[in-house]
Amino acid sequence: MIKKAERIEKLPVYLFAQIDKAKREAIAKGVDIIDFGVGDPDLPTPNHIIEALYKAAQDPKNHRYPTYEGMLKFREAVASWYKKRFHIELNPEREVLTLIGAKEGIGHIPLAFINEGDIALIPDPGYPVYRAGVTFAGGIPHTMPLLKENNFLPDLDKIDRKIAKKAKLMFINYPNNPISAVADKDFFKKVVEFAKENNVIVCHDATYSELGYDGYQPHSFLEVEGAKEVGIEFHSLSKTYNMTGWRIGMACGNSDILAGLGSIKTNIDSGVFGAIQYAGIEALTGPQDCIAQNVATYKERRNILVNGLNKLGWDVPLPKVAFYVWIPVPEKYTSAKLCETLLEKCGIVMTPGNGFGKSGEGYIRAALTVDKSRIEEAIKRIGSLKF
Ligand SMILES: *Cc1c(COP(=O)(O)O)cnc(C)c1O
Repeated sequence: MIKKAERIEKLPVYLFAQIDKAKREAIAKGVDIIDFGVGDPDLPTPNHIIEALYKAAQDPKNHRYPTYEGMLKFREAVASWYKKRFHIELNPEREVLTLIGAKEGIGHIPLAFINEGDIALIPDPGYPVYRAGVTFAGGIPHTMPLLKENNFLPDLDKIDRKIAKKAKLMFINYPNNPISAVADKDFFKKVVEFAKENNVIVCHDATYSELGYDGYQPHSFLEVEGAKEVGIEFHSLSKTYNMTGWRIGMACGNSDILAGLGSIKTNIDSGVFGAIQYAGIEALTGPQDCIAQNVATYKERRNILVNGLNKLGWDVPLPKVAFYVWIPVPEKYTSAKLCETLLEKCGIVMTPGNGFGKSGEGYIRAALTVDKSRIEEAIKRIGSLKF
């Protein structure tokens, strides 16, 4: 028996690995599965981005080790995208860092700032990597519940003063996964105040910043005054340009915080394949119509799922961002029980809300990365059941 390190044994089983197992078992039994589980775009990467990769892959310069912090051209493309999109000035040399996907940066940043026993504030429910990264660094995750009565924003005044003073780092994430909640600039201002008062590093995960519906445009944390003094923001090309398989993202903002993350990365990885960075430049600076197309596709799917469930008597709000529907569980069910029933009786995979943290109990998450004909089929199957 090979004994694993405590840091691994302390972790819950990675949520999606668990769901994947149940799904595979059902598929093996011949069930026709409709999978609303993992948020992984089913739409292809736009062609002009693939062409840029193809061209750059043929240049031997790109076959060698990339630079640790990412090529300056990519970081310049990020800076000009930020300026165009958010009207924020970033110094591409010091205020932008290339990542092997946002997950990589999120997982590594606690290693740069958390000492054994330090507290990190994480959202509950939340993307599982916040907890994992903090735990791996020897830190103690302290959850901030995201509740409906607070519009799914953490109530910073409710954080125990002693905890706040001891906290070293805070993760926030808007547009939010799994809730598809939004944050306005007033909230970000409060976060900056809190961070200054308590000397906390803010890590805002803005992976879904480009997915807003019905005219809603998500904000960058860096838009509010003082944000760059206390924090950084993670972005990803994964969800915006259907590039989850490519592995490229970026962290932007405070140069000292980025330098800390950079030192960890220099010692652990060797950067992103140069040809993928060229493809990333094309994604950020080339035609942007694919974003509008994505938004239109997800919006149509969102409407079919939400309106379909509501016609069956459920009570599901329409999300205005991201590609998740956060579905309140009908009475008499728990999150886990509902997911189990949906899988067993309907061949439908959705994710139990409590898998993202205990405040997610009472909800399940559906990712809209499923073709609309399959969503219609899912509604039909759910309609044939009594809940
Ligand atoms: C998908 C996702 C990520 C990871 O993005 P990558 O760039 O593919 O690593 C990070 N944060 C949240 C909230 C996500 O949903």
